[in-house]
Amino acid sequence: MAARRVIALDLGGTKLLAGVLDDQGVVVKRTVRPTVLASQEELLSELDAAIDELLEEGVGAVGVGIPSTIDQAAGRAVASVNIPLAGIDFRDHLTERFRLPAAIENDANAATLAEHRFGAGKGTRHMVMLTLGTGIGGGLILDGSLYRGSIGAAGELGHITIQVDGPPCQGTCPGRGHLEALASGTAADRLAQEVAAERPEGDLGRAGAAGRTVDARLAVELAAAGPGDAREVLEAIGRYLGEGIASLVNVFNPELVVLGGGFARAGDLLFEPARKVVAERALQPARDLVQIVPALLGVEAGLIGAGLVGFEALEAAV
Ligand SMILES: [Zn+2]
Repeated sequence: MAARRVIALDLGGTKLLAGVLDDQGVVVKRTVRPTVLASQEELLSELDAAIDELLEEGVGAVGVGIPSTIDQAAGRAVASVNIPLAGIDFRDHLTERFRLPAAIENDANAATLAEHRFGAGKGTRHMVMLTLGTGIGGGLILDGSLYRGSIGAAGELGHITIQVDGPPCQGTCPGRGHLEALASGTAADRLAQEVAAERPEGDLGRAGAAGRTVDARLAVELAAAGPGDAREVLEAIGRYLGEGIASLVNVFNPELVVLGGGFARAGDLLFEPARKVVAERALQPARDLVQIVPALLGVEAGLIGAGLVGFEALEAAV
């Protein structure tokens, strides 16, 4: 009987989600463990252990989403920002270790695949996704399929330039004023802290003085409660986000822009200023047609997407 299940791994900077996915995209078994950051060797043995734990009858392939740039031709994790995974032929490692077809994918690309197949982008043929968190990941569905570029490194939408002389970008990125440097959760942390220091009498300043940690999460909480500095912080970040989305709308003319990731929980407090900038600054008619919506699959998007690339590997092996 043909295999109808795959093992999926979604490797994040702090957590490793692992599960068994059936061919309807349902996670039928799941585990979670902390990401091992000590060394590449230890990280790999942790990933192997997670797969060993889930191996069962009917599993036909392995799909892994990693926060890395990927050379798809070689199946290689080229570089990663927050985890010790670089210059390793990860796909071959998996194939040899488990004797199963395997595939690797950038984590934001995996989330994009999942939102397109089962989530907010179901039924669309042209979709852009941004995952807003510590950084900004991205993915492109063009003409119905994931656009991977010449070797698989495409879709780094957090690294488009918004401000030529803006703040330095994060991690290993040499750029400045990138969308990620201006509109990620980390950028919101920084802006909230600046505003709290400048205006001690405002809502952020007072919460900080009362012992709360001033960050994006606090800004979202206070902004939801009413007007004030926190709301202004989210509006400022939302406008940067809108500048980035306006460029993406001009270039790709998507039907839909899907916003996911932890910081997207800010919802309309962040999306409304972004929509306003897109309506003002992007070109007609693309700007009038595009919808900017929240992701639907939540924290499991990356896991489900990893499963989908596992199924791709399974089909390619048949
Ligand atoms: Zn960058």
